[in-house]
Formats: sequence, structure tokens, C-alpha cells
Amino acid sequence: MTMNKYTQIKKFLIQNADVIQKRATKEHKKFLGGEKFRSEVIEKYQINHIRIVRELAKHLRAKGSMDGLYHFKKLGDRVGHDAVTDELTLQEAVDGVIFLKQALMSELKENQLLQEFSIDKFYDLNYVIGVYIDVVASRIAFTYHDNYLEKINEVTRRLEEVAKNKDEFIGAATHELKTPVTALKGYTQVLQMRLNKAGDTRSATHLSKMDAQLNRLNTLIGDLLDVTKIESGRLQFHLSKFEIDELIKESVELMQQTTDRHHIVITGLLKKKVYADRDRLNQVLTNLLSNAIKYSPHQGEIIVKTIANVGAAIICVQDFGVGIPKASQKRIFERFYRVSGSKETTFPGLGLGLYIASEIMKRHNGKIWVESEQGKGSTFYVSLPYKNNIRQEVNTFVEEEIKHE
Ligand code: ADP
Repeated sequence: MTMNKYTQIKKFLIQNADVIQKRATKEHKKFLGGEKFRSEVIEKYQINHIRIVRELAKHLRAKGSMDGLYHFKKLGDRVGHDAVTDELTLQEAVDGVIFLKQALMSELKENQLLQEFSIDKFYDLNYVIGVYIDVVASRIAFTYHDNYLEKINEVTRRLEEVAKNKDEFIGAATHELKTPVTALKGYTQVLQMRLNKAGDTRSATHLSKMDAQLNRLNTLIGDLLDVTKIESGRLQFHLSKFEIDELIKESVELMQQTTDRHHIVITGLLKKKVYADRDRLNQVLTNLLSNAIKYSPHQGEIIVKTIANVGAAIICVQDFGVGIPKASQKRIFERFYRVSGSKETTFPGLGLGLYIASEIMKRHNGKIWVESEQGKGSTFYVSLPYKNNIRQEVNTFVEEEIKHE
């Protein structure tokens, strides 16, 4: 009896595959509510549903065997591929096969093909159809997953390429800017000397202002060059042993010359030597000091404090200026990040100084962090280990450089 029934069912499915598909489509449309059902997209793809029904007919066995699993896995891949090509959404494609299963079972029932089935036999049939349909649905989902992954990888690859091109462009452009600025600086100095000799001090003062602006331009170019070096892992370090107090004194004296409105005070002496890149450390301190000056336009005092901690020197630069909102405090060390506020004053800058400073400190196995309250001021902390303060890869790099010299 059951064998017969299976033959009948298989025949029915082959002959009525399109009826089942149409019923499934109707149910799907009802479920989505008319206008959300994208007929022109979904209908083109319906040939696959007819194919699934026919394949199910071919693989039904009275004994409930699952030997069609591999076949449905391949069919699911093919259907999934078509769904992606036909631009169905994942939901449209998966819902489609679920409605197909429901329509198939309803058609079998309404055509009295399940009537004489025992509960066990009905369970077997329903189970096999269910598993095959599930395999198709899950393969569709995997195909979409793989497809999305491929697209994401492609987008990531392109973004990386764009970022690389951008970095290369910044590198080349800043390199080109450097030469004329250096020449301008040279001519400015020569002219300044001549004017001073000729007693034209007024013009010489204008030229020294021009020279100061050229220095600013040089710092900006230097920052941009450093960033491209950091990005391509080419930031070089030259290590030496030196007194940290002396370096602090030098940086402070130089920065003091740039401002009449601020008074920079040093408190505490470390009386310790560190093994580090002196120029790079100077760059960090200069950046912190110039920020302290820039971001405290109305306040006069800046305090530089040194603390001898266990194993590391800590240098603090404190200002009583505009401060940094809590939400921005973590981000100010990111490349190009600048705090944007509704402050009447907009401060000039590229948002690179702290990024470079934090990279320099990282490479020294040190740290940089900030404590700040908006409207009250900021304290930047730099901690530099006395020993072992350069990462291994940097050491290797420097050793290689020495070998080449
Ligand atoms: P730049 O000053 O060129 O914008 P930085 O990387 O040095 O770049 O600083 C990043 C941002 O952090 C600045 O735009 C500023 O908003 C904030 N900032 C840095 N130092 C201070 C400070 N001492 N006081 C207040 N804000 C600061």
C-alpha cells in the first residue's frame, strides 16, 4: 500500500510542481502584504521552486532514507547562487522555500494523498521533506553569508588601498613642500642679516615674524611626514643616555620664548638618566607645551612637574585652559582627531601632535594619558621607563642602521 502511495505522491509532485510553486508564491505574497512582495524579482526566480519540488519527488523513499542529502546540498548552493544573482534578499529566498514546503504539504493533503498514511509513515514523509528543505534553506543562507563576506573583503581591500594611496600622497606632497620652505627660510635669514646690518630694524622685525610663520609651516610639514612614517613603520629612533631634567629645561626655555602671556614653571628634579631618543622625547614635550599654551588663551601659568616613580619617570604638563570634555579624552590620541566645540575661539591645528606623541611613547614602552575638566584645564602625563625603554623591533632597527653606517 505505502509503496503505491509513494509512487502516487512522486507522480503528483512531478505533475503539479508548478501548481505547488504558484500556491507557495500566493501565500508568500499574502504573508508580506501585497506591495512588499517584489513580484518582478521573485517571479523570475520561481523556476527554482519548481526544480526543488521535482527533485524532492525524485528523492522520496518509502523507507525514509536520507541518501539525497548531498544532492540537496548542491541544489541549495545552486538555488542560493541564483537568488544572489537575481538580487533577492536573504529573507525573500529563505521564506520562499519555507512557503514551498507548506504549499507542498497542503496540496498533498487536499488531494487525499496522505489519507491512508499511518502516523509513523506520515512522520517519515514529513521528516524527509523537512530535512531536504532545511538543507536547501541553510545552503541559501550560507551562500549569502559567503557572498557578503566576499563583498566585505573587497570593500576592506579597497579601503586599505585608498588609505595607502592617501598616505602616499600626503608623504609625496609634504616632501615636495619641504624644499621650497627650506629655501624660503634660508633667504629670510640672509635678508634679516642684511637689514640688521643696514639698520632697518623695522623690516628685520617683519622678517623675523615671517621666519616664525615658516617655523610653524615646518612643524606642520614635519608632523605630516612623521605620520606617513608611522603608518609605514619607518619612524626611526636614535637612542642615547641623557639627563631627563636637562631635556625638560631646554624644551621649557624654548617654548617660553614663544609666548609672553604664559609663564612656564618647572617643579621637581628627577636627577635620573634615561635611555631614549632625545629628539623624539623633546618633540613630545614641545607638543604638550605648545598645546598647553594654545588651549589656555586666557590663563598665564603652565606647570611642568616631574615625579620619580618606581622604574619610570613621570612628566606632567598642566594648564588651566579650556580643558577637554570627558567623551573626547580617549579619542584625542587618535590620528586627525580634534575636539569640535561651540567655543568662540577655533584653535588652529591638524590633530596630529598627540597621535605622534602617543606613538613615540608606545615605541619607548612608555605611556601618555590625560586628566582634564572642561573649563578648568588639563594635565597630560608621560611615563618613560628608565630601563628597557625601547621595544625590541626598534633596537633591531637601530642596530641595523649602525651596521650600515
Ligand atoms: P591639534 O592641537 O593640532 O589639534 P593634537 O593632536 O595636539 O592636535 O591635539 C588633539 C586635540 O586634543 C586638539 O584638537 C584639542 O582639541 C585637544 N587638546 C590637546 N591638548 C589640549 C590641552 N592642553 N587643552 C585642551 N585641549 C587639548
